[in-house]
Amino acid sequence: HTHAAVDSAKEAGRNTYCFFSHEMNSGLTEQIRLTGGLVHALRNQEFRIHYQPQSDIHSGKIIGAEALLRWQHPVDGLISPGKFISLAERSGHIVPIGEWVLNEACRQAASWLRDYPDAPVVAVNLSALQFKRGKILDVVANALTKSGLPPHQLELELTESILLQDVGATINILHGLKNLGVKLSIDDFGTGYSSLSYLKQLAVDKLKIDQSFVRDMLTSADGAAIVKTIIQLGHNLQLTVIAEGVETKEQLACLKKYGCDEVQGYLLSHPLPADELNRLLTERSGTLTVD
Ligand code: C2E
Ligand code: MG
Ligand code: MG
Ligand code: MG
Repeated sequence: HTHAAVDSAKEAGRNTYCFFSHEMNSGLTEQIRLTGGLVHALRNQEFRIHYQPQSDIHSGKIIGAEALLRWQHPVDGLISPGKFISLAERSGHIVPIGEWVLNEACRQAASWLRDYPDAPVVAVNLSALQFKRGKILDVVANALTKSGLPPHQLELELTESILLQDVGATINILHGLKNLGVKLSIDDFGTGYSSLSYLKQLAVDKLKIDQSFVRDMLTSADGAAIVKTIIQLGHNLQLTVIAEGVETKEQLACLKKYGCDEVQGYLLSHPLPADELNRLLTERSGTLTVD
């Protein structure tokens, strides 16, 4: 069937080049198989959300929880988003899947709020396609209404790729979201190409320093300079700054020294099923300590 694939690639466009090797072909087969599975995954309730705590850097108090999607595949077991989000984006499935994540995360956050007076804000990742195709304002407003979650308990994580699209339209949508009362953050900050001059207009509240910079901050002078600079930039614009991918005590200490506000990473907690996060909120009164 490699011939058929090459033929259809030829048909797809005269200027399209297609390179095939056995390895790539098996990768492609795998991708087609997974994409096929995505079609039914929502209806078959195969998606799960794990929540990773975000802590105040000084008190350790859990002030947020990022919703991270997993796919409980009937054959392959638990699949991480790195393996299927880009497929879901290319096939368009990310639009209904993303809507499900939003609804489910809001429902969970509303339940935390009933049990804990200072429950964490829930942070949900949005993909660029939800902005382009989806009626994102309606989808977010609906999720809030259905769950009863107060808007300020929801944060939306945007990537710089969203900000690269039609700038005027994007700014309008972001202001619409802001008017709903939700919080906005820029994920993986520093890895994309967002223009610094737009940052203020985008109405965002928080920058998330990408984990690659955190990883390099103690081993390279450049890494340290980048982390320090993002924190200063954020603070100069009155934004909160959170570091992602914090794995060591040394990184935590250095981030404190640089004035970072919040931290998220394996050092504090891996992403957890909701009931395990509930236990942290109850038993450790919502505070993560590192010893
Ligand atoms: P992200 O939004 O930047 O999420 C952070 C990723 O880093 C998560 O990977 C998290 O498990 C991982 N992580 C957290 N702490 C550490 C650490 O200390 N060290 C290391 N090495 N990694 C850490 P995960 O869960 O595999 O998600 C990967 C990406 O998939 C996310 O990156 C996000 O871009 C995307 N994603 C996940 N859920 C959704 C979703 O519901 N919708 C959309 N559109 N994208 C999602
Ligand atoms: Mg994220
Ligand atoms: Mg990130
Ligand atoms: Mg990422």
